[in-house]
Amino acid sequence: MKDYYIYYNNNYVRQSEARIPVLSASSQFGLNVFEGIRVYKEDFFYIFRLEDHLKRLNNSLHLIGLDIDVITKKEFLNILIELIILNNIKTDFSIRFTYLIDELDSWSSIKRPTFFIAPLIRDRNSADNYKTAYLTKTRRISKYAMNPKIKCGANYINGRYALLEAKSKGADLPILKNKDGFISESSGACVFLVKNGVVITPSLDCDILESITRDTVIKIFLENNYKVEERFISEAEFNECDEIFLCGSAAEITPLKILKDLDFKIGAITKFIFQEYQQAITAKSYNKNFWTTKLNVKNHSKKLNTINNES
Ligand code: PMP
Repeated sequence: MKDYYIYYNNNYVRQSEARIPVLSASSQFGLNVFEGIRVYKEDFFYIFRLEDHLKRLNNSLHLIGLDIDVITKKEFLNILIELIILNNIKTDFSIRFTYLIDELDSWSSIKRPTFFIAPLIRDRNSADNYKTAYLTKTRRISKYAMNPKIKCGANYINGRYALLEAKSKGADLPILKNKDGFISESSGACVFLVKNGVVITPSLDCDILESITRDTVIKIFLENNYKVEERFISEAEFNECDEIFLCGSAAEITPLKILKDLDFKIGAITKFIFQEYQQAITAKSYNKNFWTTKLNVKNHSKKLNTINNES
């Protein structure tokens, strides 16, 4: 992996030079909150749903008890443009934006967090790519124990257990049920089913992350007159559905094949949402939703010009 510049502790440093103490709260206990934000390169760079990611990061900070507000959109964009120029980025990429405690402290730390913003090169999904999935015994964490709405590093250990279980059964990814046995989500993405043309997804009270892509997908379906149901989904219903796909900033739209399905083809409605989502992320459609922030980075002069589409 290329040693990109990242922004850390008010400086632009090489990723390999950014350090945190081993006895910091974040290193020992996974105490951090973060976002993964996609940037797509066409004629310009398009950042997808930036304001929503900043809002969720701010919520995560406060819900986990770190008393600080996330930096402003303007500050974020200035750092991002500098990173694009410093790293000479000309392709799609993803941003990891993380707040962490880099001082020696315990899991109960309420010290002032610092943050980093790091670019990670990442392509778009291709239309024929699908993954296999396995419904795990590992259950999703609940809001009564570890709030799944907080995008905190330590919450991902739940996803790790489920992923290792799914892989041990020969699948690529897990689907987890919540503590009450209803379908919840995957280890890093939300899940949608299709049955008789109706789109069904676990409701927000099924111990899922409030996914920004899930919201996008629901809005696209509704705009195209599909029936969408957000509700509890039983294991029996999951086993009988016609199509399944995952969605997330990283997963985008990922069709799923359940292991026992021998005669698998990517379904028509999954293909439809895949294509529509690809249009939405670079503002080729659904413009009135203000989902993209368009960035024009003039590489040599360091002169930048943001044409902000977002509300
Ligand atoms: N659920 C979990 C557990 C996740 O980690 C993610 C990825 N952030 C998602 C769902 C999808 O969320 P989003 O669409 O906001 O990326």
